[in-house]
Amino acid sequence: MIKNRSKRDFIKKMGLSLTGLFLLNVFYFRKAKSNYKPKVVIIGGGVGGASCLRYLSDYSNFIELSIIEKNKNIQTCPFSNLVIGGLKNHEDIVFETKSFYRKKINFVNDYVNKIDIDNKKILLNDKSFLNYDFLILSPGISYKWENIFGLKKNDPKILPHSWDGDKNLHSFKKRIDDLENNSTIIISSPDYPYRCPPAPYERASLIANYLIKKRKKFKILILDSKDSFTKKKLFMREWDLFYKNKIEWVSRSDGGQVVEIDSNNKIVKTKNGQKYKGDIIHIIPDQKASDLFFQSKLISNDWCNVNPVNFELNGFKDIYVLGDSIDAWDMPKSAFSANSQSKALSQNLVNRILEKEYINPAFLNTCYSFSAPERAFSISSWYRLNSEKNRIVSLGTKESDVNASDYQRKKETIEAYGWYESLTKEIYG
Ligand SMILES: Cc1cc2nc3c(=O)[nH]c(=O)nc-3n(C[C@H](O)[C@H](O)[C@H](O)COP(=O)(O)OP(=O)(O)OC[C@H]3O[C@@H](n4cnc5c(N)ncnc54)[C@H](O)[C@@H]3O)c2cc1C
Repeated sequence: MIKNRSKRDFIKKMGLSLTGLFLLNVFYFRKAKSNYKPKVVIIGGGVGGASCLRYLSDYSNFIELSIIEKNKNIQTCPFSNLVIGGLKNHEDIVFETKSFYRKKINFVNDYVNKIDIDNKKILLNDKSFLNYDFLILSPGISYKWENIFGLKKNDPKILPHSWDGDKNLHSFKKRIDDLENNSTIIISSPDYPYRCPPAPYERASLIANYLIKKRKKFKILILDSKDSFTKKKLFMREWDLFYKNKIEWVSRSDGGQVVEIDSNNKIVKTKNGQKYKGDIIHIIPDQKASDLFFQSKLISNDWCNVNPVNFELNGFKDIYVLGDSIDAWDMPKSAFSANSQSKALSQNLVNRILEKEYINPAFLNTCYSFSAPERAFSISSWYRLNSEKNRIVSLGTKESDVNASDYQRKKETIEAYGWYESLTKEIYG
């Protein structure tokens, strides 16, 4: 009896391994005889997508690589606050997608309407489609307009959110330029999780710096949907030094959460019923994963849940997601994080295609913020997978010194510029 079962098991195992061997042979046979290359398609040419393209293009001998991006040029969000604050020109943060044409890469400049999962097809706006064997998605974020009553997408009566690569920085900057003396600017900062946690406070600082240079009298009121924020002590110290009585922060508990807007009269109402009137209103809306995931019925919650070893979307074989669209546990939504994730994703996708073992990934994030032209500070964290390999956990964090010298702030400014230059050179150069 035992013998028979062992025999049956052995035959079963043999059968399975022969099937495996057969499939492997078919794979290599197709590769060798018909030059079959698995089709890898990337959606989104922002930081996550362009980083994957950079690493995977080294393997274009055995994969067929395509990238789809809706914009002709890429405007980065990192350093966009420096453009608003007059420290950089707009053209300094815009990159041509011509780098996507290198090394036999198929670049499609179109908007993806939907992914047909059953047929492994990507449906484009011009009614054509693309097939994939493996799909990588890094399409960024979309907005929860409905969280603030009266808030409308593209309302011309308020400042544009300028929270993604769309080209509205000019109009943002012009309206700051046109501000009358003694104006009040209201900034509504979103609730977690959202793209680049310190960026609302950096934006407030650099607007303040710009208006002081223009000798304007003004007040910036940050109404916050949170009770604290990243690098709070650092920002508060900088505001105390340079923008005393110019920037005021109202926490959620103190009634900072904006719940209603009347853009005609430039009034916002907060959760405790208080009304604030501004000359300019800037709402940074609450966020969720890109609309594409909802249009394609890939998720029903706000963010994508992935396997942190290879970034495969839970419940969907051969679909991988990275960057701001995912819930990356302890990792914040940043360009540095997206770039770090892209290395693990690309390496493990190649390992999967070559049927090699997955690497156990490690990640890094450093996020620089500016309070003034030569005053940058940062927070750095490093990450690994937990022992169950089902979440990304922080191993430690290092923040700049709150009382750092001018020299240290300047040194970090040089590092921040260096980081931006090497990232953009790496992925768009
Ligand atoms: C003001 C601001 C300052 C920031 N500063 C920093 C910083 O200093 N350091 C840092 O690390 N991070 C910073 N970030 C965060 C950083 O920009 C994002 O975390 C990063 O861009 C995320 O990369 P991603 O690939 O997920 O999304 P994105 O870079 O936004 O890329 C998404 C791409 O997909 C394309 N796309 C979307 N939908 C479609 C579709 N349906 N069809 C075709 N194409 C599509 C978009 O056009 C876009 O190019 C900042 C963000 C903001 C808002």
